Amino acid sequence: MKTIDKIYIDGEFVKPKGTAYFDLISPTTNEKLGKVLLGNEEDTQNAINAAKKAFKTFSKTTATERIQYLENIQNSIKKRKNDFINVMVEEYGGTFQFASVSYEYMLKSFDSAINLLNNYEFTKKMGESEVQMTPIGVVGIIIPWNSSNGFICSKLSTAIVAGCTTVIKPSEMSAQQTQLITECLHEAGLPIGVFNIVNGLGEIVGAEISRNPDIAKISFTGSTTVGKMIAKEAVNTMKRITLELGGKSPNIILEDADLSKAIPLAIMAAYMNSGQACIAGTRLLVPENKLEEVKLLVKELVLNTVVGDPKNQNTAIGPMVSQKQYERVQNYIQIGISEGAEILTGGLGKPAGLENGNFVKPTVFINVNNQMRIAREEIFGPVLSIITYKTEEEAIEIANDTSYGLQAYVSSADEKRAHNIASQISAGRVQINGIGHDPMAPFGGFKQSGIGREFGVLGLEAYLEPKALIQ
Ligand code: NAD
Repeated sequence: MKTIDKIYIDGEFVKPKGTAYFDLISPTTNEKLGKVLLGNEEDTQNAINAAKKAFKTFSKTTATERIQYLENIQNSIKKRKNDFINVMVEEYGGTFQFASVSYEYMLKSFDSAINLLNNYEFTKKMGESEVQMTPIGVVGIIIPWNSSNGFICSKLSTAIVAGCTTVIKPSEMSAQQTQLITECLHEAGLPIGVFNIVNGLGEIVGAEISRNPDIAKISFTGSTTVGKMIAKEAVNTMKRITLELGGKSPNIILEDADLSKAIPLAIMAAYMNSGQACIAGTRLLVPENKLEEVKLLVKELVLNTVVGDPKNQNTAIGPMVSQKQYERVQNYIQIGISEGAEILTGGLGKPAGLENGNFVKPTVFINVNNQMRIAREEIFGPVLSIITYKTEEEAIEIANDTSYGLQAYVSSADEKRAHNIASQISAGRVQINGIGHDPMAPFGGFKQSGIGREFGVLGLEAYLEPKALIQ
């Protein structure tokens, strides 16, 4: 049984002033793994003060110094590869496969941050003027549980590139993962106060970050509901905000697509990170005349998908993070049934032999229309809806008929044709014939999937305030 009773403020592990504990429960067995002592408003204020103090000098560091800090962090993370993978598997229930990819993603954040520092011009000429891109100030980083350390690495590394200092609030459910990354960041020897990490609840620690006038910007990843609360609060002090929110990503299979490639990709897109992914391709749009063929392929693939102990290297779908998340997914499966959609495979309840954990049956619905709640709302579990279309125009219309717009997928034998369709989709990223991540390209949502972009130059500029010197 582990007890995590330290947060990180001003270069030190300190005991929070908060007195409430939160139980850490294994998603795989529902046994108690440990507990975490939660920070409160005062802890958050102390963290913000430390970051504010550090900003005075850190904002003036050179690119060479920042590159050195980024390399130091990357090196200390490299020493703990197995620990990172194991703690994500144990605490979050992420599969070994996903946790391994996630670990590589963490390391790559620092490569792209260094790349930015080597190439970005912080002073530009615009019109007749000199424009200085200046660090914005103290950044509040608020993140969810589904890729906790990945988010910390990508957001913190961008803040360091910009010369900003930070207060990080991960999900309370990620305390062991947070402890590990904090140890690595501590070892990296950054100036004190550049990063501060407070475990705690959203309505306490997150709310203080959203309210506090000394936070200049919030970088938030999480649900659209909480994103809106943060945005409303942030405007009172004119904080800048980057919101990476939910999604209901369409995956258009064009008539000429090679189904033997497109359908395995579609299942991967729908069930990545056990379906707990904002970019999951959860609406599969197929030509009406291909439905029978698609059904056969999908059913076979899903029946062969390994659901189970996330430790096993061949497991593709692990448990949902919590009992609450399990119930949410069950509720949506029930909604789909009540709405008249038909289950192709999966359904309510736990897979046989996995009754102790928060496991759900990977589920595919057919006879779905795009107005049903299962096609409109983010489920955040391995539930896929298949929707048919007659023409390409109709496919685009269905794809765009959503309040979200984070990511989309298109498969076709003809790249030009896929490119043409992709250009007509309202989403921050469109994946053509694959699933990839370009850390130098922008990531973020249209519509209710968010505000602003992360990654690359656009992501960096969200941490900078332009100042024009006119002579
Ligand atoms: P959530 O919105 O409930 O919580 C996210 C974070 O916000 C947590 O740290 C939480 O403690 C904090 N929070 C909660 N209430 C708050 C408040 N009132 N003020 C300030 N902070 C508060 O999300 P979750 O359930 O942890 O994660 C799942 C959601 O995250 C899904 O909707 C998913 O789509 C989204 N997500 C988005 C992306 C993306 O990049 N767009 C990536 C991953 C997850």
